[in-house]
Amino acid sequence: MRQVAASRLRGFGTSVFSEMSRLAVEHEAINLGQGFPDFPGPDLAKEAAAAAIQADLNQYAPSHGLPRLRRAIAATFAHTYGRAVDPEHEVTVTSGATEALLATLLAVLEPGDEVILIEPFYDAYPAQVTFAGGVPRYVPLQAPDWSLDLDALAAAIGPRTRALVINTPHNPTGKVFSRAELEGLAALCREHDLIAISDEVYDRIIFDDAVHVPLATLPGMWERTVTLNSTGKTFSMTGWKVGYAIAAPALTRALRTTHQFITFATATPLQEAMAVALEYALASDYYARLAATYTDLRDRLRQALEAAGLPVLPCRGSYFLLADIAGLGFDSDVAFCRFLTAEVGVAAIPPSAFYADPARAPLLARFCFAKRPETIAAAADRLAALASLRRH
Ligand code: PMP
Ligand code: GLN
Repeated sequence: MRQVAASRLRGFGTSVFSEMSRLAVEHEAINLGQGFPDFPGPDLAKEAAAAAIQADLNQYAPSHGLPRLRRAIAATFAHTYGRAVDPEHEVTVTSGATEALLATLLAVLEPGDEVILIEPFYDAYPAQVTFAGGVPRYVPLQAPDWSLDLDALAAAIGPRTRALVINTPHNPTGKVFSRAELEGLAALCREHDLIAISDEVYDRIIFDDAVHVPLATLPGMWERTVTLNSTGKTFSMTGWKVGYAIAAPALTRALRTTHQFITFATATPLQEAMAVALEYALASDYYARLAATYTDLRDRLRQALEAAGLPVLPCRGSYFLLADIAGLGFDSDVAFCRFLTAEVGVAAIPPSAFYADPARAPLLARFCFAKRPETIAAAADRLAALASLRRH
C-alpha cells in the first residue's frame, strides 16, 4: 500500500500540547503545560447548557451561528471597543478559534500565497497555512521584550504575500501589542493590500495597565481584518470549543462558505449557553473579576517560579508565564520540560514548539497559570526541588 499521509502533512507530528499532557498523565505531574483552566466556568453557563439540552435544542444550529449568540457577540464587541458590528453579516460562530482560522485561510488563500506569521507563533498557524495551500513566512519577535521590528516585517512582504496573522495578547510571551506597533502593522497591511487575521482569544485576560486594541478598529482595517475569538478562554470552558470570527461582510461571506463545509455548525446547546454567558458578562462586572482573578494567579505562579530560582519574564496578557531556564544545565527547552515533568512532577511547554526552527528559541519554559491557587501551591512545593538542583 502507498504511504497514506499526504505530503502537506510533512513536518507536522503530534502537537506539543497533546504530547506534554500525555507525559503529565504518565508521570502524575501537575499539568501547567497545555493551556486550560482547572477551575469551573460560570454556573449560569452550565445551567443554560443543561436547560438547552432539556428543552431539546439538539438539532443543527444555523450554519453561521444562533442569532442570539451572534447578537451577544456583536453587542459585546461594540460595547467594549466602540465599533458597531452587524450580527447578521459580520459574525460567524465556529468550533473554536482554531476552526475560524482554518475557515479564513481556506477562504482567502490561493495556492502558493504567502502568509506572514509572527514568531513565536501559536502552533496551529503554520500547519493550517500549509493545509490551506499557503506558504508561511516568519518574522521574529525579539526576546526578552518581544518587540516587533516593523522593518523586518516590511522586508518579509513580497509579491505573493496575501495575509498576516497576529496574536494579541500573545501566546506564549504574554505580550500585548501596543497601539503604535499595531498602527505600523496596519499601515503595511493597507500599503500591500494584505488581509489581517487577528487572533484575540485572550482579549479579556489582560493585566496591570495593558490595553487591548483590536486591530480591526484601526483606520482602514475593518474591511481587511478577520478578528478571531474564543469563549473557551473568556468563560474557562476550552473543551466546549465555541469560537467566532468577526469580519466585514465580504470576508464574512467568504469564510462562511468554507465554514459550512468544514463543520457546518457548532454544538447548538453550547451556543445557547454561551449567548447567556456573554449577555450576563456584559451586564455585570464579570470581565473585571476575570482579570482580577488571573492577576492573582499570575502573581502566585510568578512567586513560585522565582522561589524555585527561575526568573520570570513580564506577562501583560494571556494565561502563560515564561521562565528563564538558562543556567540550569539543559541544552534545550524540550530536555528541561521532559525532566521537569518526569522528575519534578510539574509539566510545562517548551516554547521551541512555537518556532519554525527550534534552534532559534531562547531557553525558556512556558507555564500556564489558569489553575486554582491550590494547584499552584502544590506545583510550588514540587518546584522547590529545582532550587537545590541549581546549588549542586
Ligand atoms: N489561538 C491561541 C493564541 C490560543 O492560545 C488558542 C488556545 N487554545 C487558540 C487559538 C485556540 O482556541 P480554541 O480552543 O477556541 O480553538
Ligand atoms: N491554546 C492552548 C495552549 O496554548 C492549547 C490548545 C490545544 O491543546 N490545542 O496551551
